[in-house]
Amino acid sequence: NAGLGGWPARRALMSPDRTAFVFGDRAVTYAQVHERTTALAHRLRAAGVARGDRVAYLGPNHLAFAETLFATHLLGAIFVPLNARLAAPELTYMLDHSGARLLIHAPELAATAAALPVTRIAVGDLPAESGDAEPVDVPVALDDPALILYTSGTTGRPKGAVLTHGNLVWNTFNLLANVDVTSDEVTLVSAPLFHVAALNQTLLPTFLKGGRSVIMPSWDVERCYDLIAEHRVTWMFGVTTMFAAFARSPRWPGADLSSLRLLMAGGAPVPPGLIRTYQERGLVFSQGYGMTETAPGATFLEPAMSARKAGSAGVPVFFSRVRVVRPDLTDAPPGEPGEILIDGPNVTPGYWNDPDATRAARAPGGWFRSGDIGAYDAEGHLYIMDRAKDMYISGGENVYPAEVESVLSEHPAVAEAAVFGVPDDTWGEVGRAVVVLKPGAGADAEDLVAFLRGRLAGYKVPRSVVWADELPRTSSGKIVKPALRAAYT
Ligand code: AMP
Ligand code: MG
Repeated sequence: NAGLGGWPARRALMSPDRTAFVFGDRAVTYAQVHERTTALAHRLRAAGVARGDRVAYLGPNHLAFAETLFATHLLGAIFVPLNARLAAPELTYMLDHSGARLLIHAPELAATAAALPVTRIAVGDLPAESGDAEPVDVPVALDDPALILYTSGTTGRPKGAVLTHGNLVWNTFNLLANVDVTSDEVTLVSAPLFHVAALNQTLLPTFLKGGRSVIMPSWDVERCYDLIAEHRVTWMFGVTTMFAAFARSPRWPGADLSSLRLLMAGGAPVPPGLIRTYQERGLVFSQGYGMTETAPGATFLEPAMSARKAGSAGVPVFFSRVRVVRPDLTDAPPGEPGEILIDGPNVTPGYWNDPDATRAARAPGGWFRSGDIGAYDAEGHLYIMDRAKDMYISGGENVYPAEVESVLSEHPAVAEAAVFGVPDDTWGEVGRAVVVLKPGAGADAEDLVAFLRGRLAGYKVPRSVVWADELPRTSSGKIVKPALRAAYT
C-alpha cells in the first residue's frame, strides 16, 4: 500500500510506543492506531466498501476522523470529508455527486444524517468482525485518488477537488522543507479536519514524523489556552480569525506560551499587524498561501523573513512552481499584478466527475489557475492582492456569492439579489445581500434569513440585507460588483 493507508503500519514498526493522537483524556500510540485502523478496515469491508468506493465522513474533529481516513485508504477507497456546518440539501448534493457507498457520521449528527439519501452508520457502530487483526493488503498507487474535497465555485454547484495519495505525500514534503517538524512535535489540531489545511498541514506531517497530534473537537479560545498549557503544544495552524481571537483573549497577556515553536496561518489574508502582535511576544509566526486544489501549500513565508517581508505570502514551496501571468498568459514582471498559476506534484488532477470544470481550471502547459491575483517583488516574494473569482472568506470559510444569490432568487418575493463581503472585526468578512423585491411582493430580512438557513450553511447566510430598486448592471446585463460594493458598503 503506497498510499496513506500504509502509514500506520510503517509508524507502528518505527515508533510503536510513541503517542500518535491525544483526544480528550485518551492517548493512542502508533501501535494502537495501526491495530485500530486495521480492525476498522475489516469492518468497512464487511459493510461493502471496496477499492475505489467513496466513503463520506460527517463530524467535528475526532480521533475517529483520522482512523476512518487511514482505514478507508487501507482498502484503496476514497475518503470524502464533509463540512459539518453544511445544511442537508448541500450535503445531499455531495453524497449524490460523489456516489458515496457509505456515510460515517458522528453520533451527535444522527438527526442530520438520517435525512440524507445514503447508507449511514455512526462512528463506533460498525460491527466487530472475527479476524479483525489480519493484515489488509489492497494495492494502492500514489496516483490513486485519496480524497474528494467539495468546494463551492463561482458558478453553480460545488466541485469535488480530487487529491491523490501522491498529492498528499508531496504536500507533506513541501511542508517539511519549510518547517522543522520533529518526532517531539506536539501539534494542536485546532482547525476543522474536513478542510485540507488542518489535515495536510498539521496532522499528516506530524504523523509522518512520529510526533503527537492533540485533536481539538472544535475551535474554542479558552480550550486552546488550556491544551497549550496541558500538553506543552509546540506547533499550531489556524486561520486568521482564530489567531486574532486568540490574541484578543484576556488570557493573552498572562499565559505561558513558551512551548510554542511555530504558529502558522493560512487560508485567508493575514494582516501584518496580527503577525507583529505575535512577534512582539517573541512568538514565531508565519503564513502561507494555498488552496484545496494544491493540497494546499503553494507558497510559504520563512519565519525569519516575516518581519522584512511583512504582508508577503512567501516563496513557492520546494517542489512546486508558481507564476504570475498577464491575461495573454505571458509572465508578468516583478511589481505587476496578474493571475497566479501553480504547477507541481501537489496539484489536483481535476474535479470528480466534472471534465468541464477540470478543463476550465487549466492553462496551457497544465498550469492550475488559482483565480487569485498577486504580484512578485524583485526578490521573488509573492504578495496576494485580490481575487479574480467572486469570493469572500468568513471565519476561514470561503463563501461564493453566486451560490447564495442562486438560493435567494428561489424565494418567491425576490426578483434579484447580489451578495458580497464586507469587513468584520470578528470574522474577517461577513456577507451583505442587496435585494430587489418583485413588484407588490413583501418580505423582511428575517424571512429571507430563515429561508436561507434551511438551505445553506450558517456561515454563508448574509448578516445584513439592504433593499434596492435595481442592481447596477453592465450593458450586457452582468451585475457590476465593484459598483455595488461602493454603493452599499
Ligand atoms: P480554499 O478553497 O478554502 O482552499 O481557499 C483557497 C483560497 O483562499 C485561495 O484561492 C485564496 O483566495 C485564499 N487564500 C488562501 N491563503 C491566502 C493568503 N495567505 N492570503 C490571501 N488569500 C489566501
Ligand atoms: Mg479557505
